[in-house]
Amino acid sequence: MTATLTHFIDGARISDPGGRQGDVYNPTTGEVEKTVSLADTALLGKAVESAKAAFPEWAAKTPLTRARIMFKYKDLLERHRDELARGLSSEHGKVFNDARGEVTRGIEVVEFATGIPHLIKGEFSPQVGSGVDSYSMRQPLGVTAGITPFNFPCMVPLWMAPMAIACGNTFILKPSEKDPSVPLMLAELALEAGVPKGVFNVVNGDKEAVDAILTHPDIQAVSFVGSTPIAEYIYHTGTAHNKRVQALGGAKNHMVVMPDADLDQAADALMGAGYGSAGERCMAISVAVTVGEAGDKLIERLAPKVRNLKIGPSHDEEADMGPLVTKEHLEKVKGYVDLGVKEGAELVVDGRDLRLQGYDNGYFMGGCLFDKVTPEMRIYKEEIFGPVLSVVRAESYDEAVKLVNGHEFGNGTAIFTRDGDAARQYTQDIQVGMVGVNVPIPVPMAFHSFGGWKRSLFGDHHMHGEEGVRFYTKMKTVTQRWPTGVRAGAEYVMPTMS
Ligand code: NAD
Repeated sequence: MTATLTHFIDGARISDPGGRQGDVYNPTTGEVEKTVSLADTALLGKAVESAKAAFPEWAAKTPLTRARIMFKYKDLLERHRDELARGLSSEHGKVFNDARGEVTRGIEVVEFATGIPHLIKGEFSPQVGSGVDSYSMRQPLGVTAGITPFNFPCMVPLWMAPMAIACGNTFILKPSEKDPSVPLMLAELALEAGVPKGVFNVVNGDKEAVDAILTHPDIQAVSFVGSTPIAEYIYHTGTAHNKRVQALGGAKNHMVVMPDADLDQAADALMGAGYGSAGERCMAISVAVTVGEAGDKLIERLAPKVRNLKIGPSHDEEADMGPLVTKEHLEKVKGYVDLGVKEGAELVVDGRDLRLQGYDNGYFMGGCLFDKVTPEMRIYKEEIFGPVLSVVRAESYDEAVKLVNGHEFGNGTAIFTRDGDAARQYTQDIQVGMVGVNVPIPVPMAFHSFGGWKRSLFGDHHMHGEEGVRFYTKMKTVTQRWPTGVRAGAEYVMPTMS
């Protein structure tokens, strides 16, 4: 009998007998290990009822009370770090140490949310007019929801939930149906930390649950992270239903390697950024743009490293990367490698036929390295989301910048160089939301904000940091006077302060 992962509503796991079910695989073995309930509109409605009922009391708590609960939540998450990492690595396929890193990056957002009394502080202007003061405050929105992707089942929900909840909202998470165990644990640990029932709910499901969220009149705001076509759909549908929406989409992150860069360092950086988590990261580097003579020298360094990648089951602590998430995704990624060969790119390392002894049904492939990829190829234009790195040759810095700026995605990018002037210019010129200088994966810390440009983000706000506080609160401005004695009578002209 496989276990069924259900929903977490009003502080308890809720089963849904007779409802639709999905399979949850272990990508290392290719076996179905669990099933997950897929919510319908009525079930989502129950979560909204619970979140709506919990809102007034939670919003009325002092920010300091909410901060203290966040401190406890952080402590509990730290104590369960390994359990969370094991849970997500067995369903996602990323190796345990990488999974641990993911949990840590998620906990950092909870740590940031402990500062909510300071973050949510308003502004005060005494004497905006004679005897008149004005102040602004940030108030929570109400019921909010988050829809998250398979590739960070712990970190991405933690980009959203602690910020929404610390700001005084209630929250419904609809995680990816591919790896739903850890999101349920996140809500249970929040309850244990003192987050009242109904404040953090988890509704498992697929498009039906998502559509129910997007159209429910009592949900005020939706945060989404996933692929670009779905992000665009979420943004348009959610805003058409008068919701505040932030929808983060896909990526094709370029790393520009200048001829003066330390090429050994650049090659190592590309290995981690291209093949870590089997390339299934929205901040993975999937294109290296080599300028001038850097191209041949970089390929020389990269090729043996890609051939020697240690690929193993997700529980192998020595492995550099594990399997891909599903059989369909593995086939899609291999299909892109076939396509690249047909399009005329040079496949320097071919990892398509890798077989791992003892794991014949696992979704494994080796690292692939393409050289001489050109901008009109589909393998350049589209997000592959696998362990496939493309090298594009550019003659000059200007050509490299034109390539990056011409791409439809603008999530992350990096430049490797020893020239401070070129690096500074790059940070100014580039049309991308997150930029690294000799840093291959420039994921901002929790106290900065995470978000891309162009078709990598729909909406105005990035995740966490001050942007997160702005997204999950609305501004109210009060103007007050306490007049004594003098009566000026009615005023019929536009009031001006003096
Ligand atoms: P996905 O878009 O397939 O799914 C994301 C979420 O949307 C899931 O919860 C899923 O159930 C739901 N969904 C899927 N199809 C839907 C549909 N037709 N209608 C309504 N909802 C639907 O993404 P994924 O495969 O889970 O994740 C990988 C993608 O996420 C990649 O494109 C990656 O770049 C992107 N991503 C982006 C960021 C970022 O910060 N920009 C971070 C992580 C992942």
